[in-house]
Formats: sequence, structure tokens, C-alpha cells
Amino acid sequence: MDYVNGPGRNHLFVPGPVNIPDQVIRAMSRNNEDYRSPAVPALTKTLLQDVKKIFNTTSGTPFLFPTTGTGAWESALTNTLSPGDRIVSFLIGQFSLLWIDQQQRLNFNVDVVESEWGQGANLDVLAAKLADDKAHTIKAICIVHNETATGVTNNLATVRKILDHYQHPALLLVDGVSSICALDFRMDDWGVDVALTGSQKALSLPTGIGIVCASPRAIEASKSAKSVRVFFDWKDYLKFYKLGTYWPYTPSIQLLYGLRAALDLLFEEGLDNVIIRHNRLATATRLAVEAWGLKNCTQKEEWHSDTVTAVVVPAYIDSSEIVRRAWKRYNLSLGLGLNKVAGKVFRIGHLGNLNELQLLGCLGGVEMVLKDVGYPVKLGSGVAAAAAYLQNTTPLIPSRV
Ligand SMILES: *Cc1c(COP(=O)(O)O)cnc(C)c1O
Repeated sequence: MDYVNGPGRNHLFVPGPVNIPDQVIRAMSRNNEDYRSPAVPALTKTLLQDVKKIFNTTSGTPFLFPTTGTGAWESALTNTLSPGDRIVSFLIGQFSLLWIDQQQRLNFNVDVVESEWGQGANLDVLAAKLADDKAHTIKAICIVHNETATGVTNNLATVRKILDHYQHPALLLVDGVSSICALDFRMDDWGVDVALTGSQKALSLPTGIGIVCASPRAIEASKSAKSVRVFFDWKDYLKFYKLGTYWPYTPSIQLLYGLRAALDLLFEEGLDNVIIRHNRLATATRLAVEAWGLKNCTQKEEWHSDTVTAVVVPAYIDSSEIVRRAWKRYNLSLGLGLNKVAGKVFRIGHLGNLNELQLLGCLGGVEMVLKDVGYPVKLGSGVAAAAAYLQNTTPLIPSRV
């Protein structure tokens, strides 16, 4: 029934799930296999070694759960904490809100630090709370590295500095779902105790793997954490790691081969180049937004996200109509405004397997839709601003130099 979608490709610019590279799609097109044969553990071993590179860790222990980002959250929390434990958690948008909801439903004592949507985590409040907490009642700090709903990136190096300044032993649990494999992420340098991501974001795989990486301190904490967990229990995985068979239950064979291909593509490009590319595409997007005379939902430059841009529309326009029309008329998929910013912003996801000309196609589409809904945009203005920047900054493709 593909023909009902019209000719050409869908332009997928939601901030996850993202475009899957053809190489990954081909790598996944295969039969099931016996996961207890020697082949699957051998593949898994390379995946566990290599996945540490995307977290920038040598001391972390990774887990590949058959789940989504939401399951990865649950794994991080339940393996390290006990019911009633006090957590400081930052509410800055829909994804941090959902994680906080999960924390509350898992019966933690959540100390919520709220900021206006469009702002980053209020780290002054964190400093004040740590300064007050001489008895170390705070067991964990939970923070979303990149808030996908508003396009806000938090500064994790500063969070670590504050924790160190007060010599506070709280665990640092980080949602890196829309940052890891796209933004600079340094699990070891920043002393992150649990970092997590999902396969359908910057890794550019189908949904279905939640990757959780635990520091030695987190592994230690898991030995006394009393939260009930079964499916997500690290202990079961660690037991099978020791046996060299790796899987306490059935993994998705296809996703494992897909992950192998996705990691190979990232390493071939070079993780540093991947990060630079995301910055290049994000900068071009921000220049286009400026040229359209529209506002970025992110209130300060220091919080600008290189994976998603939330664009604020004038009050007389419903941003949901922009998203609807983009899809109906131009086969362009943009992100809706969520919750507090519903109707007020639309989002351009520029993460994962994506290049300069794909982005220009999206920006051209956005301009046409803006015109469709009555916003007085000069067609080509954003594309020109973005293209001028990209023309100056896009490197040669290494294999074609
Ligand atoms: C997408 C996303 C999630 C949720 O992940 P699911 O895979 O939908 O469960 C969590 N956090 C952030 C920052 C996200 O962008």
C-alpha cells in the first residue's frame, strides 16, 4: 500500500524516531537465529565493547534491554535506588515531566526543581539543595541532558562541578536519549553514574533497544537497592555476562545486527565528526528560524540544542496546523508542540543519519507551510541563510576526497 503515500520519500524530521540508514536496514533483513549458538554471544561481546564508546566510558558497564527510553529510565532508577529515597529532579519540558512521573509512581521522594519551558535546569537551586544537605539525604540527581520537547541542552559538566564542590555522594542519573551519538557526551569525565539512550534516536535504528550504562558506583549501589525489578534487573545480565552467553532472555537478533551496522557507520564517520555535523545542521536550522523572523523556544544560547529546534509561532497561528499541513501536502514530518507548548511551537528534529541537502529540503518545506498558514514569510529566506552557512562549512566526504 506504499503508493498511497505519493511519489518520493517521506521527509522525516521529528526528533525521534529518525531516519534509518539503508546499510542498517539491509543488515537487519535476516532470519532469526538461535541466540544460544556461539554466533550471537560473539556478536554481543563486540556490541557491549563498542557501545561504551558512544558513552565515552571505559569503566562503565552497558546493558542492552529490549525496550525503549522509558524502560531504560526504569532500569536506571530501580537498580540504583530504594523506595522512599530522595531524588532531585529537574522539570523543564515534557520528557523530564514524564520521567518525574515515573519516579513518583516508583515511590521515590522526588524533589522537583521546575523551570519555565524553554529554560535549562536551574543549577543554582541544585547548589543550594546540596549545600543544605549535610546529612546526604539526597540519593540521586536525575537530569535530562537534552529536553526534546523544547530543544534545551543542560550542562552536565557544571552539574558534576557542583556535586564535587559540595563533595556530595548523590548518584548522577542522566537521560541521554536525544543526545548520545549526537551531542558531546562524557560519561567518565562528568562522573555520570547511569547514562541511558534509546535506539530510535541518534543511533538511527528502529525502536526497541534501551541502552543503559552503569558506572562502578552504580553497580555497587545496585547490590543494596531495594526497588522491585525483574525484567530490568542488572543482576541477571551480569550473571550471563560472566557465563559468556550474555542474554537472560531472548534478544532481537535483527536489532543486534542493526546495532552492529549503526555503530560501524558512526565509527567510520568518527564520533567527533558526528558531533560536528549535528552542530552544523543545528546552526543552519537556527539561522533559518532567525531569517523567518521566528523565535527559538530555547531562551538562551547556552541551552541551544544541536538535535532539535522548537520554533515558536505567532499567537494567531496554531502550530499543530503547521505539522498537519506539512504532512498532508509536502510529505514532511515535523514534531508537534507537547503539553504546555502544544499549539505554540513546532519542532524540527535534526538528529541521526541526516545530511545537509536533506535539511535544506525540510527548511524549504517549512517555508511553504508557513506561507500556507498565513505567516508572511519570504520564500527562500531561511533556506538561503542555511545554505550560505552550509556552503561555507560542509566538509568533503572523506572517502571521496
Ligand atoms: C524520546 C525520548 C524519551 C522516551 O523514549 P521512548 O523510547 O519513547 O520511551 C525519553 N527521553 C527523551 C529525552 C526523549 O527524547
